[in-house]
Amino acid sequence: MSRSLAPGLVTPADVLELDFAGKPVSNVGAQLFVERFIHAEIYRARPDVNAIVHSHSPSVLPFTLVPSARLRPICHTCGFLDGLAPPFDVADHAGPANDLLIRNAELGCKFAAHLGSRAVALLRGHGFAAVGASVPNAVFRAIYTARNCDIQLAAMRLGEPIYLSSPEAVACEEAILAQASRAWMLWLSQIQAETSQWVS
Ligand SMILES: [Zn+2]
Repeated sequence: MSRSLAPGLVTPADVLELDFAGKPVSNVGAQLFVERFIHAEIYRARPDVNAIVHSHSPSVLPFTLVPSARLRPICHTCGFLDGLAPPFDVADHAGPANDLLIRNAELGCKFAAHLGSRAVALLRGHGFAAVGASVPNAVFRAIYTARNCDIQLAAMRLGEPIYLSSPEAVACEEAILAQASRAWMLWLSQIQAETSQWVS
């Protein structure tokens, strides 16, 4: 993952290799991202995961804050959200003076356990993590977690939405996985147009 840097500024030269303890394998003098333990402990717990996106999307934050407003899969691109757990609360593990960050291996381990075998885990007052078998898969899930939140919030203003049933969620996820490269190729072309340099 990148050294401590705003995501929009990261270049290939900023990417570090870390071990499961969150320690750099090379470039040991680099300033490290404080929440690298989210990634390290999920990778340790989930051999099926090859990519993780941690996000502070403002679309998702409301669903980490209101216990009665549970995020649920609402459209055909978001079946991976079925069975989402309530938000992980750092305060339950780090006490009342916590800073809401996953800033050590112990919290990372507990957050990874909270994620379990799911694709997404929410983090109260902070954001979420989305995981996948590949970078395109994790990015797709991160982007569509936020879109599901926008759509669900809009629908809730109109009344009680009809959510995906669990069988629908499974069928939708299978269908989307078969064509996820469509969105990925679009996003790559957009980034290439913006940066005109290093994406491949
Ligand atoms: Zn964070």
